[in-house]
Amino acid sequence: MSNYVKDLMAQVKAKNPSEPEFHQAVEEVTESLALVLDRHPEYRSMKVLERIIEPERVIMFRVPWVNDQGEVQVNRGFRIEMNSAIGPYKGGLRFHPSVNLGILKFLAFEQVFKNSLTTLPMGGGKGGSDFDPKGKSDNEVMRFCQSFMSELFRHIGPDTDVPAGDIGVGGREIGFLFGMYKKLRNEFTGVLTGKGLNWGGSLIRPEATGYGSVYFAAEMLNTRNESLADKVCLVSGSGNVAQYTVEKILSLGGKVVTLSDSSGYIYDEAGIGTEKLNYVMDLKNKRRGRIKEYADKFSSAVYTPLDPQMGFNPLWNHKADCAFPSATQNEINAKDAENLIKNGIYVVSEGANMPTTIDGVNIFLDNKILYGPGKAANAGGVAVSGLEMSQNSMRLGWSREEVDQRLQTIMKDIHKTCLDVSERFGTPGNYVNGANIGGFLKVANTMLDHGVI
Ligand code: NDP
Repeated sequence: MSNYVKDLMAQVKAKNPSEPEFHQAVEEVTESLALVLDRHPEYRSMKVLERIIEPERVIMFRVPWVNDQGEVQVNRGFRIEMNSAIGPYKGGLRFHPSVNLGILKFLAFEQVFKNSLTTLPMGGGKGGSDFDPKGKSDNEVMRFCQSFMSELFRHIGPDTDVPAGDIGVGGREIGFLFGMYKKLRNEFTGVLTGKGLNWGGSLIRPEATGYGSVYFAAEMLNTRNESLADKVCLVSGSGNVAQYTVEKILSLGGKVVTLSDSSGYIYDEAGIGTEKLNYVMDLKNKRRGRIKEYADKFSSAVYTPLDPQMGFNPLWNHKADCAFPSATQNEINAKDAENLIKNGIYVVSEGANMPTTIDGVNIFLDNKILYGPGKAANAGGVAVSGLEMSQNSMRLGWSREEVDQRLQTIMKDIHKTCLDVSERFGTPGNYVNGANIGGFLKVANTMLDHGVI
């Protein structure tokens, strides 16, 4: 670690105590940027990095609501408006009991670089609440969303800040949030993405993150003249990103053998085909059940409950070719990364945000596998959100084929940027440096253009 990075990290830790995920995200990016700062002293003298790690604005608010028993509940809401150099703040909302300021700051920070990589004009933001939609009735989720929006609406707008979904925020939640925004503002605008098709949504938006992550893996494989056909794949999670990752792997001829949720994972040696995927979609999106039920339904599958005492996740300890972590941050630690390598995995495409710890990432890099970090590999979701904004502005809707084609082109472009930049800065094939530096340059140069603000 260079002295500059060391000093900066010491400052970050002192100024942002108890935010380990934010420290981790900054450290990973700063390590890559050391290569750039040596060549470009103007970024240092203009304190571009010091400015990028400081959110432009943090909004934190009370979200009171009443449950079905008539009891008052109180949650905490957040919106981190991280950087608006290249466009309105853009990034999802996460509803999960683990949500806190540090987690949302890490996500907002990552979003700045990711959005820049998409080539679309979007700044970075993130928000959410420690509200847990699991086990809540539709009416409770609606009342919560309405209360959340009754504060958030003051801070967002189609040209200011455009939230979307993330963990715990899918089509149902976006609907309730949009309805409340429309009522409070008395206007119908593209203030959120991930909207329903009847009210301004884009085709392919639900699929985009998962599809994009698989397109990115296909691009990485292509550099070795290989494809996903017949590849055995480990996928974690069973939500939006995981489901469409599986769908796209299947359509490209691959085989998926795992899925998980926060309680445990299933291993299905026979493969999770289309029919089984449809079962998972119904289980997770409609019945809102647990992945354990998959093993009760299909005898070829074995369910293993998650045991945090183990120190590693057995999901990553199966023979396979590719891994698509698609659940949450830090789900692959150093031991998991070693297990993946030991089991023959040589492609990792991150659907989730920061699913691998820094030690795990270093193991992937040392072993020179095809490793696509989340900032690049999962950028398809926000890219299609950007396309949804374009369609809303034009008051037009593109066909499924058109959006999918644009998504594929964007993922190819991101892949190429990562490779070109990694080569230009002396670390060919290092997608981590490629994504961090590629995302940084556009934002940093714009910040120089705009002056010290
Ligand atoms: P969903 O809420 O649809 O699904 C999340 C999945 O991850 C669920 O299976 C959930 O299990 C599991 N999960 C959540 N938290 C944990 C945890 N602490 N430990 C283990 N499993 C967990 O969210 P998405 O699919 O939208 O998001 C998944 C990941 O992809 C996140 O990292 C998100 O930030 C990232 N992402 C999402 C984008 C999008 O467009 N939706 C865009 C880019 C990145 P359970 O149901 O038990 O909680």
